[in-house]
Amino acid sequence: MLKFGEKGYICNYMDNSIQSQAIRAGAEQAMVDSEFRALLQAYTASRHRKKVEIIERAYRFAAAAHRGVRRRSGEPYILHPIAVARIVISELGLGSTSICAALLHDVVEDTEYTREDIETNFGPKIAGIVEGLTKISGGIFGDRASMQAENFRKLLLSMSTDIRVILIKMADRLHNMRTLSALRPEKQFKIAGETLYVYAPLAHRLGLFKIKTELEDLAFQYEHPQKYAEIKEKLAAGEAHRLDIVEQFVAPVRQRLDEAGFKYEIKARVKSAYSIFNKMEKKKIPFDEIYDIYALRVIFENEDEEKERVRCWEIYTFFSDGYAVHPDRLRDWTSVPKANGYRALHLTAMGPDGRWIEVQIRSRRMDDIAELGYAAHWKYKTGVSDDETELDKWMNTVKDILANPEPDAIDFLDTIKLNLFASEIYVFTPHGDLRTLAAGATVLDLAFDIHTELGSHCIAGKINHRLVPLSHRLDSGDQVEIITSKAQTPKREWLGFVHTAKARNALRNLLKRDKGAMLESGRKLFADFLERKGIPLTDSLMERVLRNYRLATADDLYMLLARDEISLSPDRLKEADRKRSSMMKRLLRNPFRQKYRTAPCCSPLPGDDVVGFKDTDGRVYLHKTSCPVAIKLSSGQGSDIVAADWQAGNSTFPARIRLEGIDRTGIIADIGSTLSERLDTGISHLQIDVSAEVFECTLTVNVDSSASLEKIITCLKEIKGIKIARRIS
Ligand code: MN
Repeated sequence: MLKFGEKGYICNYMDNSIQSQAIRAGAEQAMVDSEFRALLQAYTASRHRKKVEIIERAYRFAAAAHRGVRRRSGEPYILHPIAVARIVISELGLGSTSICAALLHDVVEDTEYTREDIETNFGPKIAGIVEGLTKISGGIFGDRASMQAENFRKLLLSMSTDIRVILIKMADRLHNMRTLSALRPEKQFKIAGETLYVYAPLAHRLGLFKIKTELEDLAFQYEHPQKYAEIKEKLAAGEAHRLDIVEQFVAPVRQRLDEAGFKYEIKARVKSAYSIFNKMEKKKIPFDEIYDIYALRVIFENEDEEKERVRCWEIYTFFSDGYAVHPDRLRDWTSVPKANGYRALHLTAMGPDGRWIEVQIRSRRMDDIAELGYAAHWKYKTGVSDDETELDKWMNTVKDILANPEPDAIDFLDTIKLNLFASEIYVFTPHGDLRTLAAGATVLDLAFDIHTELGSHCIAGKINHRLVPLSHRLDSGDQVEIITSKAQTPKREWLGFVHTAKARNALRNLLKRDKGAMLESGRKLFADFLERKGIPLTDSLMERVLRNYRLATADDLYMLLARDEISLSPDRLKEADRKRSSMMKRLLRNPFRQKYRTAPCCSPLPGDDVVGFKDTDGRVYLHKTSCPVAIKLSSGQGSDIVAADWQAGNSTFPARIRLEGIDRTGIIADIGSTLSERLDTGISHLQIDVSAEVFECTLTVNVDSSASLEKIITCLKEIKGIKIARRIS
């Protein structure tokens, strides 16, 4: 025998150590395998469709991903996901999709695998759930740190996408609570508090009473270890006596049940340590004064669902015939269940020792629902249930529950006005503030929702670091940054894609206010120009200018000047004159043989449906038939309506096109070459506005007909980066 310190001993020791390690690893693997087999067994024994292959695959994937990692308790990490999956099937009744997601739930968060890896191997649904679970944790929630209101909202947010996320998170939490003893006390305290604050109430709302009770008791144990020990001790001390009393109490009832031919089970249930503690705290009474420490549950087998309620009441009489029943403590949830689905008949009767005993009367089905929540409904479906449709139904029920809170519903759920229907989306600001918007809302809606000022100067959005135009529709969960520019002003076109009433109203008001300011600045530009040139402003001058620019009113001129869409240089005026005279010549070739002009309000093109209006001076203005001005004119008096059939000829007319997109090098060159090379069209006016990465451009082209214009727009849309191309007049 070698002694300590001798060389041989050390070698021997190391050999032993390697050997024992190998043995331990083998034993561990066997344990992991047997846990997984137990999971599979629970699954194959359920009524779910048997999709064993994908579950096995998810297990192998997770086992490989977590290989070599241990929990704080020292056991292999993979045991945790297996245990969570086990809860998912055995205690929540969910199917293969949820089992796989449970097996994989920590893979994205804790290993190098990404959501994409999960999606490639298991499809988008499972990947989506795993991602939801990762989002909730994300190093800031749950196991890792203290809960913040913000993160709780995120939790609920992910619920609205797929309720399975919250259910699996619940299973995850339950297993973590069951194994909490391995953690350091301060961690235990934190996680226990979170469990009481968030998970237990949520479990209650979802009708998961068994899980709720267990979570509460576990949390209580860590939060108030002494109180927990005291209550447990007192409960244990009185147990024999209690069982005795209960037996005396139920004996006559048993007899009646047997006589009436009931198949039943009576469970004597002791209130949970946590609920006793709660009652002591709330009512400020000692343990001995809590009268309903024990409760009885009568569960009867019932074939005919229609008779369920009557039979509950029949059993009620077996108690009320023999005992004094507390008049204020009768609760009938048989006809109208509690909001979370609970059905039962409750009564409280005076026991042999003069203490009240609560009795809960339930059919087997009611009991299952009470214990398992709506997951229990599956058990009552005939035939093999289809994972998805059943789950959908259940999810909808849960959503109904959550959307219609009871009057005494848990406060935090109400205060955040949880709305799980698709009519609302939840988005986050870069600082993590949550904003709720109507579904369909765009970047611009969000900007206006935050502040009118932000809305009026908004030029683009950045969603998850990707640039998007103002018209981009937001999805729940998007983190959105609003990009602004001082130069930006509210645009009438925005009315085309704002979705919320708030943004629409704000935008309308701004445009109204804006129009006044624009006209004023246009008027000033015009006056300044004339002053510099020493030209007095007279009616005849204005008339000439309007004619040159083919405009109807002075306001039109001011507006275009303010928008910088026309220039007042003398050259331009001359050019306009020349243009006008050539247009007149062209018009004279027109079959109408009339001096007419295209109305600036709608700038019609040959091919458009047009109508002409003769004004008092005999000038004919052509409007699109859809033009609001034309509609107003045709309903009014004093205008002669001239029928017009205006076909494309040799002449061309200006048409304005608006382009929006994401800026990139060469985009302007591409627009230019598309127009000149592919379409043989010149640009007569071009205004470009690039702020941040968003590109906006208004251009005027000369075309012979509306059909040609459509062709041009189609080609422009094909340019890389262009998101929107449309005719604006
Ligand atoms: Mn976990």
